[in-house]
Amino acid sequence: MRKQMTPQEFRQHGHAVIDWVARYMENVEKFPVTPTAVPGEIADSLPELAPEAGEDFAALLADLDRVVMPGITHWQSPNWFAYFPANVSGPSILAELVSAGLGQQGMLWSTSPAATEIEAKVLDWLVDLMDLPQDWKSGGPGGGVIQMSASDATHAALVVARHLRREQAAVEDMVVYVSDQAHSSIEKGCTVAAIGHCRKIKVDQYYAMDPVDLENSIKADKSKGLLPIAVVSAIGTTATTAVDPLESIADISARHSLWHHVDAAYAGTAMICPEFRRYQPDLERVDSYTFNPHKWMMVNFDCNVLWVGNRKPLIDTMSILPPYLRNKATESGAVLDYRDWHVPLGRRFRALKLWWVLRYYGASGLRAMVRDHVALAGEFANRINQDDRFELFAPHPFGLVCFGRVEGNEATRKLADDLNASGRVAVTPSRINDQWFIRVSVGQTHTRSEHIEKLWQLIEQLSI
Ligand SMILES: *Cc1c(COP(=O)(O)O)cnc(C)c1O
Repeated sequence: MRKQMTPQEFRQHGHAVIDWVARYMENVEKFPVTPTAVPGEIADSLPELAPEAGEDFAALLADLDRVVMPGITHWQSPNWFAYFPANVSGPSILAELVSAGLGQQGMLWSTSPAATEIEAKVLDWLVDLMDLPQDWKSGGPGGGVIQMSASDATHAALVVARHLRREQAAVEDMVVYVSDQAHSSIEKGCTVAAIGHCRKIKVDQYYAMDPVDLENSIKADKSKGLLPIAVVSAIGTTATTAVDPLESIADISARHSLWHHVDAAYAGTAMICPEFRRYQPDLERVDSYTFNPHKWMMVNFDCNVLWVGNRKPLIDTMSILPPYLRNKATESGAVLDYRDWHVPLGRRFRALKLWWVLRYYGASGLRAMVRDHVALAGEFANRINQDDRFELFAPHPFGLVCFGRVEGNEATRKLADDLNASGRVAVTPSRINDQWFIRVSVGQTHTRSEHIEKLWQLIEQLSI
């Protein structure tokens, strides 16, 4: 007899799993934020071979505590200030469970009408919530699509830019422009797309792209016989959340017929609040825009959104129609088939968690979260500013504060190491040119004022 898990057994084990996760939520603050596991330690506690006979579910659950937990980095601790947040929430976790239970493959409208139509509608909602151009809605010339990551979205945008210019130059002679602070995913996207050059443009004193250097680089490349095809602006760079000057870049991009892609992976979430929209003027002149609800919007990884102002070039680039995918709905032209919007064919029902988060918290709940985090970051920055042992390294428009010790690199790096070694918080040391700084990113779902207070006390203790 083949082993099965019956619905009744699933129900019973499922209750135990939900209890386990709820207990984790209650206790997450009690663990050291980063694990003490050494390389190989977790792997060594697993048997050499996969089990021949199936095991009891209870044994699987027990090994969560025994094997898994010692190797878990607690991204969901409210004392998590490292990298950017990857925050989650109850409604999102439960939606992941339902999505797994339904096991959809939404590559075509006809393979999951609900997954397709809810995705399109929820991304249309976000267009209004973030005050993005109306053309980006699914009823207009543009549209949005959920992808796995901002890296995938940016890669897709660059492939479209390349496709549009395919008759004008060889790929080796094509050039994409980014600031020297842009995320590595853009350079990687160029590499994967075999685009010849990824030109790094200088930044100003606030780490934002210098449009004069952009214009000069484009002209220099053209005079060498190269073909500029795209520019990527950042709203919120990874190192310091610098904001590139979108209007000037849009002017240059129009002048040289470039595809203009915006990477707002982290900061996009803030655009739900009107007060942050001054950082993204002129979006009508942008060709594509990506942000990660899986960073700061309480939606579990993975959930990235890519919008395009015009979906035709994207679909022209990505669409290949073998006979086995032909169907009436597609041929009627009345539906979206999201397989034509990215590299993968198969796709899971990720819109469900976005939908549930938007409905459970409402726009007002999301705005309150963003504003709380940004205010806490501001509170922390004030402490840094008022203490002559420390200095701010960069402006803090969102929830990230970058600071260092006034004594310089060595003291700054030591402070970062000591903070992380304490197990009570996690921060990220980083460097621009030869200057080190510490990134404190406030954005875990449950981070409150008391956690900032404890962080500050620890910094004080470690800085005498
Ligand atoms: C995090 C980040 C990315 C990469 O996001 P993934 O979804 O992990 O690929 C890209 N750009 C910026 C600015 C980021 O902060």
